[in-house]
Amino acid sequence: MLVKQILQAKGNSAVITIKPGTSVREAADILAERRIGGLVVSSTGERAEGILSERDIVRSLAVRGPSCLSETIDQMMTHNPVCCSVQDSSDAVLARMTEGRFRHMPVVEEGKLVGIVTIGDVVKARLDELSMEKTALEGMIMGY
Ligand code: AMP
Repeated sequence: MLVKQILQAKGNSAVITIKPGTSVREAADILAERRIGGLVVSSTGERAEGILSERDIVRSLAVRGPSCLSETIDQMMTHNPVCCSVQDSSDAVLARMTEGRFRHMPVVEEGKLVGIVTIGDVVKARLDELSMEKTALEGMIMGY
């Protein structure tokens, strides 16, 4: 399955972005409110300049305590995140996520942000594919 199909299945919903300079507290509020685990950081909503994960916030809270909440996300985010394209396969994306140990990947076309896929989206796509293959094989074996 291609990333393009995963995005279509998700309804091509808009990517939730935040601007550099946003406070960590505000970012945490957005993550909680929208029930998501990562935010793409972008000044214009077009280029993925960074990514801020709930893990970045938890790590900073553990290391530096609650004072980090009043800082900006700029030092906390990962700059220049690994991105994928709509033509990439779900297997290639899963391999990249596993190798890099991250669960979010912005989708970019001609330098512009067009979506985001999570490890959950990719695993669901793979399970759906396996289920379809199983049904097709059963059909072939049982002759229906
Ligand atoms: P995650 O597992 O995606 O919640 O993030 C784990 C760590 O990887 C955090 O430090 C993130 O900022 C970072 N990260 C998340 N997504 C990406 C990505 N696509 N490219 C590079 N780093 C990422």
